[in-house]
Amino acid sequence: MTEDIADGLKARAARAFEERFGTAPGALAFAPGRVNLLGEHTDYNGGYVLPMPLALGTAIAIGPGGRPGRIRLASESFEDEEDRCIEDRASGAWSDYVLGCVAAAARDIAAETGLRAMIASNLPVGAGLSSSAAIEVCTLRALHGLKGKPLDPVEAALEARRVENHFVGMPCGIMDQFVVSVGRAGRALFLDTRRLTHREVALPGRYRVAVIHSGVSHKLTEDGYAARVAECNAACAALGVEFLGDLGPADLDRVGGLDSPLAERARHVITENQRVLKAVHALSSGDSSGFARLMIESHASQRDDYAVSVPEVDALVNGALDLGAAGARLTGGGFGGSVVAMVAANRAVEFCKGIEAAFPQARLLSLS
Ligand code: ADP
Ligand code: MG
Repeated sequence: MTEDIADGLKARAARAFEERFGTAPGALAFAPGRVNLLGEHTDYNGGYVLPMPLALGTAIAIGPGGRPGRIRLASESFEDEEDRCIEDRASGAWSDYVLGCVAAAARDIAAETGLRAMIASNLPVGAGLSSSAAIEVCTLRALHGLKGKPLDPVEAALEARRVENHFVGMPCGIMDQFVVSVGRAGRALFLDTRRLTHREVALPGRYRVAVIHSGVSHKLTEDGYAARVAECNAACAALGVEFLGDLGPADLDRVGGLDSPLAERARHVITENQRVLKAVHALSSGDSSGFARLMIESHASQRDDYAVSVPEVDALVNGALDLGAAGARLTGGGFGGSVVAMVAANRAVEFCKGIEAAFPQARLLSLS
């Protein structure tokens, strides 16, 4: 199923490439989006996360050609095509993500022959499902394919994050790129973002994971994400630690002495980290209701302490719980985006119908 989706998207990208550029691409690659089950805003604080790759994703077809030093980029679903120079800096355009990867991994080919690329995706952009990491990782995979060079998944994740941090200018942590590059669809990945140790964790078979878009779009480079990163850095400086993830429950009193909102931001990071550890323990011991409760607590902490939710998302979380979800929370960077809910498998269809009826602006994106 997942392979079919990836192959289908690669074939769409290849077909669109041939139609636009009149020649076959030199390499094709796919990378998935992801949903984060627990551990929000902990990754850039050196903490723990529990994301899962989805069946949805992004494919790219890429090949040499055009003019030396130029990169022609098109997206199958966009009418538009962008023509960039390998020496360009980020401009705020969607092509920045691809250009940054080319500049990092294939500057030589781009300078010598030029490049052409076509994107095909079924991943909603700005929905909190990490379309940005998907486009970065599939581009790096395709560029290595073009060069005939192997690409280590962890190296790809680190390179993609560098592109997003330093080229695009988004100060994200490593979670998205890591799970998109290293994880397997439908399997939760427990990741220590400080040490990059990781392992898969089985989800309870009697439940399904629903991802529902709230109808409120975000663009992380334009919203409060960078402000939260800056607040965490300020809290670290005030507390004399390198990462908030280095702190534990014993530090909560000390953290409470910080000025507002640094105290609340740091409290979210500390409690969220503990929730991920508890969640991994709950899942490993078959305690699915314990896991669901942690999702609900995580949402409250994001809403009250981290202030990254919006009223439409809060209403959707409450609505999902009213409609029988065992757990539900805002997932992704926040300020809009999506909700992840854990629903009993035998009630999933009824649940989705209930959400559609009660929230006309919401959209079911994935049920896995
Ligand atoms: P998220 O990663 O949660 O979807 P971001 O704001 O981090 O949201 O990244 C979204 C940006 O990534 C878009 O604004 C666009 O620039 C780029 N992008 C992602 N997927 C595509 C795509 N299929 N086609 C064009 N641009 C894309
Ligand atoms: Mg992103």
